[in-house]
Amino acid sequence: MRVRPVVHLLFVLVIGLFGGCAEADDDPAVARARMMREVSADVARNPEVLGRARLSTVVLEAMLATPRHEFVPPNLRRHAHDNRPLPIGKGQTISQPTIVAMMTDLLAIGPRDTVLEVGTGSGYQAAVLAEICAHVHTIEIVPALATASTKCLAALGYENVTVYEGDGYLGVPEHAPYAGIIVTAAPDHVPPALVEQLAPGGRLVIPVGRQGEVQELMVVEKAVDGTAHSRRVLPVRFVPLTRK
Ligand code: SAH
Repeated sequence: MRVRPVVHLLFVLVIGLFGGCAEADDDPAVARARMMREVSADVARNPEVLGRARLSTVVLEAMLATPRHEFVPPNLRRHAHDNRPLPIGKGQTISQPTIVAMMTDLLAIGPRDTVLEVGTGSGYQAAVLAEICAHVHTIEIVPALATASTKCLAALGYENVTVYEGDGYLGVPEHAPYAGIIVTAAPDHVPPALVEQLAPGGRLVIPVGRQGEVQELMVVEKAVDGTAHSRRVLPVRFVPLTRK
């Protein structure tokens, strides 16, 4: 039993010497784990959003695996794992991690699914989806962002993501139907082409509302008989979906 106080003392010494230094936060995996604890706490506080108090394991693991710091501008890297949105240039933002997690979970996609994202931005949300499903098609209207995210995703080895430059209001009909469609900019109504391009049983997760007013995150489900049903899940704030 004499060994116990010694071990305890050693532990205190080690913590005293190394605990609280910047090392832990400099390790992206450690920072992501901390970020996901905050995201999980948000999900637990708002169980009505997902209909349960915790994220699905696939979404949690996908976000733990996705290097968020690679998708933010270099001068903001030290904030990459803060649970908040960040500017990515051209007046656009990368969404808050809690919103990325909730929207990805609401899509309810699996490893055999093909997914469409409207609003590639930095490419981060596309990368999270790519960790989960078979292929991600993602479309961005700002040419410079489409180019930068294509390069970033390729450099990180995401081979199952295709980035398009264009107006995502019209979807990407060539690869439809999609098991899931996620929109990360807000139109003032649900674009009919996106409902059209949804597979039977598929889900569209989309913020809807006018700029400057409260927008609602909506889930549109297409039943097997082709009829669509929508519900509001959360008040949100997104950049506007623009048209060419
Ligand atoms: N999902 C992104 C968040 C991007 S913010 C990420 O993870 O970083 C929303 C993006 O939607 C912006 O890049 C904006 O340029 C883009 N966007 C706005 N209107 C669009 C449209 N009609 N079609 C495609 N992209 C659009």
